[in-house]
Amino acid sequence: MITTPPKEIIIVGGGTAGWMSASLLQHAWGHLGCKITVLDSVEIPKIGVGEGSTPALKRFFETLAIDESEWMPKCNATYKCGISFPNWASNSSKNSYFHPFYSNIDLKTGKAFIHNTDLRRQGFLVDEHPDNYWLQSFLAKENRSPKTNIQLNGVMEYGYHFDSALLGEYLKNRAKNLGVGHLSDTVTQVNMSSCNQIKQLLTASGRKLESELFIDCTGFSALLIGKTLNTAYKSYADGLLNDSAIAIPSSIDCSKPIPPFTESAALTAGWAWKIPLSSRYGNGYVYSSKHISPEDAEAELRAHVGVSCEGMPAKHLSMRLGRVEKHWNENVLAVGLSQGFIEPLEATALMSVQFTLEEFINSYSRNNQIQQNLFNNKVNSILDAIKDYIQAHYFLNTRTDSQYWSDARNIDNCSSKLKQIIDVWDHPTGDLEQVLTNTNSLAAYLTPSWYCLLAGKGRFNQVAMKPLSNEKAVSIESIKHYFNTVTQHFPLHKQQLQALYGQKWEKPS
Ligand SMILES: Cc1cc2nc3c(=O)[nH]c(=O)nc-3n(C[C@H](O)[C@H](O)[C@H](O)COP(=O)(O)OP(=O)(O)OC[C@H]3O[C@@H](n4cnc5c(N)ncnc54)[C@H](O)[C@@H]3O)c2cc1C
Repeated sequence: MITTPPKEIIIVGGGTAGWMSASLLQHAWGHLGCKITVLDSVEIPKIGVGEGSTPALKRFFETLAIDESEWMPKCNATYKCGISFPNWASNSSKNSYFHPFYSNIDLKTGKAFIHNTDLRRQGFLVDEHPDNYWLQSFLAKENRSPKTNIQLNGVMEYGYHFDSALLGEYLKNRAKNLGVGHLSDTVTQVNMSSCNQIKQLLTASGRKLESELFIDCTGFSALLIGKTLNTAYKSYADGLLNDSAIAIPSSIDCSKPIPPFTESAALTAGWAWKIPLSSRYGNGYVYSSKHISPEDAEAELRAHVGVSCEGMPAKHLSMRLGRVEKHWNENVLAVGLSQGFIEPLEATALMSVQFTLEEFINSYSRNNQIQQNLFNNKVNSILDAIKDYIQAHYFLNTRTDSQYWSDARNIDNCSSKLKQIIDVWDHPTGDLEQVLTNTNSLAAYLTPSWYCLLAGKGRFNQVAMKPLSNEKAVSIESIKHYFNTVTQHFPLHKQQLQALYGQKWEKPS
């Protein structure tokens, strides 16, 4: 628990990670006299992608007491009920499922899903498709908003889509108004003290900046944590094949329904995202450069998106997948791409930014090596658990149309934890919850998410032949009826946004 915060913090980097860091640190420590300054460079561009979130971002805005009506219209934001995963299988009846943001509202139907799926694992003829058991899946199917005026017996979880540049700008203006300092300059040299701490930053305009604590938000360049402190780095490249991405915007027709979900469709050598904003769609292809060239990937993405992206510019990016071993090393905390990156299949990067900061604020105390080690171990276990969950998507694919999908199924590239999870799942009566607990795999994704993934990808060893005898499955018809009734109380996503945006709906920026 914090007693005395640092007197001064310099955050190097003004991307989303930099301004999220400034916002949370100012909120936690600003009133205790901690002076926070963000330094960023107009010479070095931000990554400029990252438009999807998990429900963690809802908590971020709640913590800062920022209302949706305040930030969403300024960031062209929409609601997100979850992610759909079409075309990840060669079998057409099993080639799509929805990963919902479930909440305690789903407790009863979620239990039914797990019960029925366990029966299916044993070979009984039961409905085990995840799309039939979660409120958000039904809302997504009908393009409804996850918000309602009716009283629910639980708190609804949901995420957002947003324009990343506008979100960064919004957080920057807000933080500056609250007293966070801002310098536009480029760090050209970093000087160390004799005890291996960062002492001073020299900048292009001749500034000499000193601070007690530095936050490295310099993106993939990892200027402080990597280039200066040489912090050990664990690559995820063996397990995750994708190392490149292309982003292309496309027009959105607001006379049509606006989907409240991200689509992550499998393509020949990776997958394509489609993210609805109020002003446009964001599209992208995350792919392996060993399996497809940038030119072919761009052509495939353009064909996938269709005419709505004609004439739109493409942005090509490389991605470094992995993480540092120590996110908090000496007097540097790395946050964002500088601390590591797992490819964006489940849009987890900003959630990791938030976890890192929340955990750091809770565990910060000066010169306490034990706290520092505990903090680093915790962040590492969260990132490793996310990485295993993402890798499982690839490992479980059943596509046969390209070398890429066959390479992605290589069990040798899975961590020992992921191998244990698959082994237990494949055993008809294996206890999945137990193995997830034993392997610390619940640090990022809870049991229902693992069931959705394994069942949604159709991973069943037993052919479904056994009729139900003494075993009782929960009736899927009653669950469908329940959801079809409940969803009528949720407005259409577009209506909800129109009400929230007011006049701005007609003139998006
Ligand atoms: C293809 C792709 C898709 C993604 N999709 C998602 C998603 O859906 N959801 C999600 O949560 N995340 C996503 N991400 C990740 C997300 O984009 C980043 O986590 C987020 O933008 C934060 O980036 P950042 O602030 O760490 O780095 P950047 O945006 O790169 O910012 C780096 C900053 O450091 C500054 N800087 C660097 N060097 C210096 C220097 N020497 N002196 C001064 N300043 C310096 C730069 O000027 C810049 O301001 C995606 C990433 C990729 C590659």
